[in-house]
Amino acid sequence: MAKYIFITGGVVSSLGKGLTSASLGRLLIGRGLNIRMLKMDPYLNVDPGTMSPYQHGEVYVTDDGAETDLDLGHYERFTGQPTSKKSNFTAGRIYWEVLRKERHGDYLGGTIQMIPHITDEIKLHIRALDEKGVDVILCEVGGTVGDIEGLTFLEAIRQIGLEDGRDNVMYIHLTYVPFIKAAGEVKTKPSQQSVAKLREIGIAPDVLICRSEVQLSDDVRKKLSLFCNVPFNAVIEEQDVQHTIYELPLVLSEQGLDELIMVHFRLARPPAKLQAWRKLVDTIVHPEGTVRIAVVGKYSELQDAYKSIFEAIHHGGLAHRHRVEIVKLAAEELESARGLDTLATVGGILVPGGFGERGIEGKIAAIKFCRENGIPFFGICLGLQMAVIEFARHVCGLEGAHTTEVNPQAPHPVVCLMAEQEQVQDLGATMRLGAWPCNLRLGSRAAEAYGGSACISERHRHRYEVNNRYRAQLEARGLVPSGISPDGKLVEIVELQKHPWFLGCQFHPEFKSQPLAPHPLFQAFVGAAIHRQYPLIAES
Ligand code: GLN
Repeated sequence: MAKYIFITGGVVSSLGKGLTSASLGRLLIGRGLNIRMLKMDPYLNVDPGTMSPYQHGEVYVTDDGAETDLDLGHYERFTGQPTSKKSNFTAGRIYWEVLRKERHGDYLGGTIQMIPHITDEIKLHIRALDEKGVDVILCEVGGTVGDIEGLTFLEAIRQIGLEDGRDNVMYIHLTYVPFIKAAGEVKTKPSQQSVAKLREIGIAPDVLICRSEVQLSDDVRKKLSLFCNVPFNAVIEEQDVQHTIYELPLVLSEQGLDELIMVHFRLARPPAKLQAWRKLVDTIVHPEGTVRIAVVGKYSELQDAYKSIFEAIHHGGLAHRHRVEIVKLAAEELESARGLDTLATVGGILVPGGFGERGIEGKIAAIKFCRENGIPFFGICLGLQMAVIEFARHVCGLEGAHTTEVNPQAPHPVVCLMAEQEQVQDLGATMRLGAWPCNLRLGSRAAEAYGGSACISERHRHRYEVNNRYRAQLEARGLVPSGISPDGKLVEIVELQKHPWFLGCQFHPEFKSQPLAPHPLFQAFVGAAIHRQYPLIAES
């Protein structure tokens, strides 16, 4: 039977619960344990697939095609392990299941209630991760203690403590200890109240992780220990990291967090193996150079909308021991020629995925600029589609070429819906999702980047595809379809051969990039950007 660690958050949101959980995952793997990770989201959407990036940030996609919370991206990047459909569920999914069972008559005439029906369903979903050979399951509860919608989730994890015994279950509470400038001191009261709220529900945390902008004195930690009823050595400090989020596992391990877990679960394991991780942090802290890369997206102001893209770009830099300075540009602003000036100063330009019309023409202008000026270009999903449109319009002379997503009446629909998508009415979970195989053309840049592999597997999340009616015409003018689905029907990668580096992919490679294993395409793209940037620096 696996042991459970439940991670809750208090006082405010955005404390970095996902990163903390992911770091813990890394430490337990370093201890040689077999782990699983889970994110529970108490909101009512069935999954985040239909939520706006303003509400939710990035939608992360797993190999088995689940549209999930972006914290799963942190989990995969920190642990190096794939997540799955089972690794994220929402209150909406739980209610949906319970109501489906009720309609089916599964409850035999009973009155359906929050306790036990909803809580039982939550526990069922949690325990689904307890597969053979799993030692520890790390479960993060989304939201903040005190949220009404989170109550059934807290009740469910309390019940697991009762069912499995406190030796097999651990509760970790992440809280905020603010520094009040006017008083010149940190305040423990919000943490005390948040823990009091948890204890009211029947959960007594075993560990308190304190997010703080300043160092906590022993006196403050003693106070937190006393008022929150947590042993002094289990009051862990989590200050903002200095250089990179990847420092976090090291910061937590230095304070003995993984040791505390071993003691609680009576697991005898040697100290966590973290050599590779230390080396990674060292490379980030001491880069050999810096390269600038522009990301031309719809939401330049949203930090979370392109989370995995930004991370994967940094990983690409790490592969060359370079720091990447990411220049975030709003595609809309590039619709005037002025915006293009910035583009001339960067090593490479990436156009990420997206939906809808806003900023489309700016993206196309940026791609044209890259194609004509030999600037390394990497287009992802919508980025590939825009590259195809740009090429069709300006090289093949197909005036009005477009995607039917934006112009259903386009005279040249070079990007369009596949037949199986045309009947789809619901928006949720109906895109082409998850891992799909792709064959690479021998001798292409794509094949070179992937180290000569003939077949790869990458994750998708889109409805529209390159229109096969135009494939030959595009190729005849130099846009090479270098990645194709095994049945030959879908264009997955396009590239230009007479260009330093110009590649678009229909899938989302960013989801599979990890700091210890940078994605081959990001590695190749950032490499090309570094190559371009040095003459630029010499010129200025
Ligand atoms: N909107 C495009 C489609 O649905 C691209 C999606 C994406 O970039 N993820 O095909």
